[in-house]
Amino acid sequence: MMNKQILILGGGASGLAAAVIASELGASVTVIERSDRVAKKLLATGNGRCNLANTGEPVYFGDADFANQVLSKVGAQAVRAFFERLGVPTRPDSAGRVYPACNQAAAVVDALRLRLQQSGVRIVTGAQATAILPSKDGYTVKTSAGNFAGNKVIVCCGGLAAPKLGAVNAYGLLTQLGCRQVAMGPALTPIETDKAPIKGLSGLRLPVTLTLCEGKKPVAATQGEMLFADYGVSGVCVMQLARDAHCLLLRKAKPMLYVDFSPAMGLGDYRMERLPARNPFANKERMLRYLQEREAFMPENDLLLGALPRILRERLPHLPPEALAELLCAYPLPVTGVRGYDQAQVTQGGIDTRDFSPETLEHKQHKGLYACGEILNVDGDCGGFNLQFAFACGMIAAEHAAVTE
Ligand SMILES: Cc1cc2nc3c(=O)[nH]c(=O)nc-3n(C[C@H](O)[C@H](O)[C@H](O)COP(=O)(O)OP(=O)(O)OC[C@H]3O[C@@H](n4cnc5c(N)ncnc54)[C@H](O)[C@@H]3O)c2cc1C
Repeated sequence: MMNKQILILGGGASGLAAAVIASELGASVTVIERSDRVAKKLLATGNGRCNLANTGEPVYFGDADFANQVLSKVGAQAVRAFFERLGVPTRPDSAGRVYPACNQAAAVVDALRLRLQQSGVRIVTGAQATAILPSKDGYTVKTSAGNFAGNKVIVCCGGLAAPKLGAVNAYGLLTQLGCRQVAMGPALTPIETDKAPIKGLSGLRLPVTLTLCEGKKPVAATQGEMLFADYGVSGVCVMQLARDAHCLLLRKAKPMLYVDFSPAMGLGDYRMERLPARNPFANKERMLRYLQEREAFMPENDLLLGALPRILRERLPHLPPEALAELLCAYPLPVTGVRGYDQAQVTQGGIDTRDFSPETLEHKQHKGLYACGEILNVDGDCGGFNLQFAFACGMIAAEHAAVTE
């Protein structure tokens, strides 16, 4: 056993996983956390249920190759085994989303904290790291609560999403050391649209298929439950499209979101999934047949009676079936923006992964310096991919840091 001094900056998902592994391997570990307690965000994940991994095909953006290489070392099963070992059995749902069997994020956080306490890990809260200075034996970390010395430093400070849960800009810790940075933006966040087509619909929740287009060219599509808000639309299926919408807006393209109401009318599957980009008018023939069948026994003005919620029916103009079918399977919402970091679940962009090894998470030049989780230029889809990446990074970096000189 080697008794290395390892400093872990940030007590979130990746930082706590790293602390568990490094301490188990005999290192002397200090977690430096700026908030008054660790794991604030982790407690809020998955609506308090903590969707901690996904057994399905990985869906990552930014440097997806880097993410896949990390996951090839520590995948969903390894993350599940890690929590099983801490006394938290997990279960995947039918879509591969893995939750603790008790469905409580608190169980995940308690298990991590207990293990850290048992292994004598020092947790310093209320200490914001401000600089990492290379020294003779490793690094000195300057914080708002004094300086800390360590042989190795693992930076687990997260991204900019959800400042209320502790997110701050910590990228400077690494850019000061010469790390490159990729432009950032909020991802997995609600989408803002023109107000006119959504007027009066705020609060309405219903299953839909969504296609994001650049003009008429499909870019990405999803299916799931959508919620109308006064600024635009929300829900997991919307948030999954925010990343692409943000990129289109940055390019000054004119993104359009087409809403297909077929699932709400019992005409389509209702699943929560990311679809390949699809023609927004794909369901038009089916929708038209449905309307024509109804027209045979219903007055024209009542075609949508009982098929759609009243609030939505009232917003739709009276049109002949052909035009109505077109509108119902491709209701156009011009995208005007995406919500900011306060409503986002994750940050796209960040520290350029090219400076780090996907095998170890160690910096290629600064030996003994590691970066993990959301601070890197990797963001995952909804469904457990972001926590899985954070936990995997923490575990890999800690193992390497604890056993190498
Ligand atoms: C509401 C919400 C729900 C989510 N649900 C899910 C989900 O169910 N499944 C999923 O996969 N992902 C989910 N995510 C995303 C996921 O939580 C993050 O991607 C993940 O926590 C990132 O882990 P991390 O270790 O990189 O950073 P974090 O978990 O954010 O931890 C970073 C820590 O570093 C601390 N810190 C920051 N700067 C400093 C500094 N300078 N000095 C000291 N400490 C510092 C922060 O206070 C924080 O405690 C959700 C996000 C949100 C906001």
